[in-house]
Amino acid sequence: MPSGVKSEVRTYQMYINGEWVDSVSNKTSAIIDPSTEEVIAQVPSGNAEDVNRAVAAAKAAFETGPWASTTPQERGRVLFRLAEKIRQNAAMLAEIESRNCGKPIVEAEYDINDAATCFEYYGGMATKILGTVNPVPDNAVSLTMKEPMGVAAMITPWNYPLVMATWKMAPALAAGCTCILKPPGVTPLTVLELANWLPEVGLPPGVLNIVTGSGSVCGTALTQHPDVNKIAFTGSNEVGKVIIKQAADTLKRVTMELGGKSPNIFFADADFENAIDGALFGVFINQGEVCSAGSRILVERSIYKKFVEAMTEKAKRIRLGPPLERETKMGPMVSKDQYETVRSYQEIGKKEAKMSIGGGRAEKFAKGYYIEPTIFYDVDNHARIAQEEIFGPVAAVIPFDDEKDALKIANDTPYGLAAAVWTRDIFKAMRVVKALRAGIVWVNHMQPTYVEAPWGGYKQSGYGRELGPWGIEEYLESKQVHINLNEQPIGWY
Ligand code: NAP
Ligand code: MG
Repeated sequence: MPSGVKSEVRTYQMYINGEWVDSVSNKTSAIIDPSTEEVIAQVPSGNAEDVNRAVAAAKAAFETGPWASTTPQERGRVLFRLAEKIRQNAAMLAEIESRNCGKPIVEAEYDINDAATCFEYYGGMATKILGTVNPVPDNAVSLTMKEPMGVAAMITPWNYPLVMATWKMAPALAAGCTCILKPPGVTPLTVLELANWLPEVGLPPGVLNIVTGSGSVCGTALTQHPDVNKIAFTGSNEVGKVIIKQAADTLKRVTMELGGKSPNIFFADADFENAIDGALFGVFINQGEVCSAGSRILVERSIYKKFVEAMTEKAKRIRLGPPLERETKMGPMVSKDQYETVRSYQEIGKKEAKMSIGGGRAEKFAKGYYIEPTIFYDVDNHARIAQEEIFGPVAAVIPFDDEKDALKIANDTPYGLAAAVWTRDIFKAMRVVKALRAGIVWVNHMQPTYVEAPWGGYKQSGYGRELGPWGIEEYLESKQVHINLNEQPIGWY
């Protein structure tokens, strides 16, 4: 049993300054398996005092600890060793992620692999952070030096708990920052498991701290703390806006990876079978709890009726089941709260549009927050189910007349995270790609995500980018250095 775990309904501790500790409040909160509604763990309910300890540890580690003098090569090796630990323990981590989130085990295995790959990628990048020599018009050398931003706080959502945390921790550590991570209240377990390996992979105390607790208490304390230099947030727009305001008084740098209502656009010339698969995969993967879910399915009118029928037929065969069964394609919603939110949108949808399948709880399960995959069609793009992020297995299918009409509908949303277009016409595909106001656009696919490519949104889906070289820039400062080569006085006075 990992050292941070005390007993069988596992009691975890927080990880601050290289030590496993309880909250100073001594309070804990229960972690639920959403497929059984049973308590699987207890986790400390941290408060502002715990956050203060973690920030003090991160600040000291940044300023005076051994981390401050590590070389990029050494930081890279720490990340490689951490990736190796994740790979060696992948089965255990995937099982915990699957049980805690309710996500199918096969998907959880992909997530764990992605987390390891992300640490490897940024382990390599640690030695590739380059400055510049600037061509200034003087007898001088002008340099740009890249330096770590300092103490970075990370606040993450529950849909991909380890992956979303890794997208932040890996570049931050590669850059030389120190970190405080506040995982989501309902799914904090995999990041706590990860902390078990931090000493043996060579991460000094205080470099990465994990404080568990609620967003309103710990999240607020972190985002207002004067010694935190940067906030990396992934979550809802509602909370994102609160965090920006909380961080404003201390002028923190903030990156925001927020929600979406992404269009998945199908032209009549697309390969029909692939298109049906792509429509379902785009919206029902991870039970629809995906920020880039293709939750608005735009279909050209000439294939619309056939498309809705085929989608519905295929959706009937999606296998709902216990997350740990390998055949399961959809598990329960992550929590009772999320289940209720999605249920309420199913009811809203019934008033706003026609429904071809689903519409309620999946009643074949005695327990658990299972929701039927639900397809609404003939949806008006101004309906609530087409404008608001549901974050569950609810699709809104919308017909369109032509390319111009498709683009008008696709961009008619406050969000701009992702989009996809399906066609065999490369000219049309590229016209649509260029006209879509979204940070990620797929052609003839939806959802593949790579650590090498940027992730982030346009418009109200946020700002800043994660992954690739873009991701590490968000943890770096640029220092201008001017070296005068004239040996005479300035000669002004
Ligand atoms: P959320 O409710 O916004 O919560 C995200 C995180 O913020 C949690 O750790 C939460 O803590 C914390 N938090 C809540 N209130 C806070 C406050 N006042 N100050 C500081 N932190 C606070 O989001 P969620 O429900 O976990 O996740 C779903 C959302 O995430 C969706 O909108 C989805 O689109 C978005 N998302 C976006 C991406 C992307 O890359 N763009 C990826 C994944 C998810 P508690 O858990 O304790 O409330
Ligand atoms: Mg939430």
